[in-house]
Amino acid sequence: VNHRHERAVLALERALGPSKVNTERPAREAMARDESETEVTVPRAIVYARDERDVASTLSLCNEHELAVVPRGAGTGRSGGAAVIVPSVVLDTTALRSLKSIDRDEMLAVVEPGLITGALHAQCESEGLFYAPDPQSAPWCTLGGNVAENAGGPRAYAYGVTGDYVLGMRVVTMNGVALSLGRRTAKGVTGYDMTSLMVGSEGTLGVFTELWLRVMALPESVQALLASFENTSAAARAIPMLVRSAAPARCVELLDEHCCAAIRDVDPSVLPTGVRAVLLVEVDGDEHECERRAARVGEALTSAGALEVFASRHGGDRERWWSARRVLSRALRALSAHKVSEDIVVPRTQLARMLDEVRAIAEREQLVMPTYGHAGDGNLHVNILWNDHSERPRVERAIRTLFERTVALGGTLSGEHGIGALKRDYLSLEQSPTVIHAQRAIKHALDPRGLLNPNKVFSSATHRAC
Ligand SMILES: Cc1cc2nc3c(=O)[nH]c(=O)nc-3n(C[C@H](O)[C@H](O)[C@H](O)COP(=O)(O)OP(=O)(O)OC[C@H]3O[C@@H](n4cnc5c(N)ncnc54)[C@H](O)[C@@H]3O)c2cc1C
Repeated sequence: VNHRHERAVLALERALGPSKVNTERPAREAMARDESETEVTVPRAIVYARDERDVASTLSLCNEHELAVVPRGAGTGRSGGAAVIVPSVVLDTTALRSLKSIDRDEMLAVVEPGLITGALHAQCESEGLFYAPDPQSAPWCTLGGNVAENAGGPRAYAYGVTGDYVLGMRVVTMNGVALSLGRRTAKGVTGYDMTSLMVGSEGTLGVFTELWLRVMALPESVQALLASFENTSAAARAIPMLVRSAAPARCVELLDEHCCAAIRDVDPSVLPTGVRAVLLVEVDGDEHECERRAARVGEALTSAGALEVFASRHGGDRERWWSARRVLSRALRALSAHKVSEDIVVPRTQLARMLDEVRAIAEREQLVMPTYGHAGDGNLHVNILWNDHSERPRVERAIRTLFERTVALGGTLSGEHGIGALKRDYLSLEQSPTVIHAQRAIKHALDPRGLLNPNKVFSSATHRAC
C-alpha cells in the first residue's frame, strides 16, 4: 500500500465528491487498457470529469500528491496511449461531451473532448456541413482522443488529418492551470503554434477541455470505385501512378491478398468474386463533378494496372465495400489469439518495396502478416497474427525489422496511432537523441514532475510516479 497514493485518492474524493471518483476494482480493471496489447497495471482510481474545474482539481491534487494521471477518451487507441502502465489515476473525459455550437458564419464547431467523433459527423451533415477527419473508429472514439493522437483516416488523402482542423483549444496542464491556446478565427499566427504542440501530444502535455474545430461545406455527392489487381504488389505499384496522374480521389485504401481472403471468410458476398487485392477509392463533389472525377480516377486506375474497376452504382455498393473495410479488423482478429496492428508510413514510391519486405519478414519469422491501410498516404497497417507465447520472440523480431526497414526506406514509425507505450522503445530508430532530448525538455516545462501520462512516447527516466 502506497500511503501517498491513498492520500491522493482521499483528497480527490473530498474535492470532487465520491460520485466522481470510483475505487471499485472491476471499474478500475475495465479502465486499465486500450485497444492495444500493452501490458497494464490496475489504476488506483477512476475520476469522471464533468467540467473543466474537475479536470483542473484532479490534475493539481495529483500533482501535489505525486500520483500519475492517465487522460482517457473512449480507449480505442492502438498504441497504449490510454493504457495504465504505472500506478495512476485514470481521468475519464467521456462525460465532457457536449457539442457547444456550430457557427456557420465562422465554419467553427466548439466541442468538449469527450464528444464521439461520429456524433459531430452526424450533426454537421444534418446542417449541410462536413467535419472531414474520419478515423474508422468514428462511431466509438472521442474527439479529444483524435486530437491527442492526431488521428487520420481514409479521407486524409484529400482532406488531411485531425490537426489540420484544430484551430485552438482549452487545455489544463499538470499544475491545474487552464490555458486558451490558438484561435477561433479562420486565420491567426500569434506566438508559437502551441495548438500544434498539443495536437498529437498523446495525453502527455495537457488535458483538453474544449476544442475549436474547423468545419467545411458538405460535398454534395460521393462515389466509390473498387479496383481489383492481380496481386498485392500490383495494387501497391498503382498508387504512385495514381498520385502522379493527379486523379482527384479523396481516399485510396489498399487491402492485400490476406485481407481480401479474411473478408471473404466472414462474408463471401461483400467483394466481387475472384478479387485478390484491391484499392478502394472515393471521389466527391457536386453531382456532375463527381461523375467526371469518377471517370478520370477509373481511367487512371486502369492505366496503373487494375484488372477491373467497379463503380458504385448506388449507395448500397459503397456501403458494402466500406463495411468490408470495417469488418477487417474483426475478421483478422478471428484468425488468431493475438494480433498486433502496426501503423507505418513510407514514401508512396516505396510502398511495393515495403510490402515485399513485409512478405520476406513474414516468411523468415513464419508469421502471418496481413496488411491494409490508407495507402494513398503511404500509410500501412501491418498486422501480425500469432497464437502462442512461444511465438513472441519471433513477433518482436518481426516488429523491429519492420521498423528498421521502414526508416531505411525514408518512412516513419506511426502515421496515425501514435507512439504511446508500445513503440516508445523504437523512437530512437527514427529520431536523434537531440530531438528526443528537446521533446523531454518541452515535457519538463509543462509537467516538471513527469506525472501526466508518464512513460508514453519516450521513457520518462526522471518521472517520480513509479
Ligand atoms: C477498429 C478501430 C479502427 C481505428 N481506425 C483508426 C483510423 O482510421 N485512424 C486513426 O487515426 N486511428 C484509428 N484507430 C485508433 C483510435 O481509434 C484513435 O487513435 C482515436 O483517436 C483514439 O480515440 P479515443 O477516444 O479512443 O482515445 P483513447 O484511446 O482513450 O486515448 C488516446 C490518447 O489520447 C489521450 N487523450 C484522450 N482524451 C484526452 C483529452 N481530453 N486530453 C488529452 N489527452 C487525451 C490519451 O491519454 C491517450 O494518449 C482505430 C481504432 C480501432 C479500434
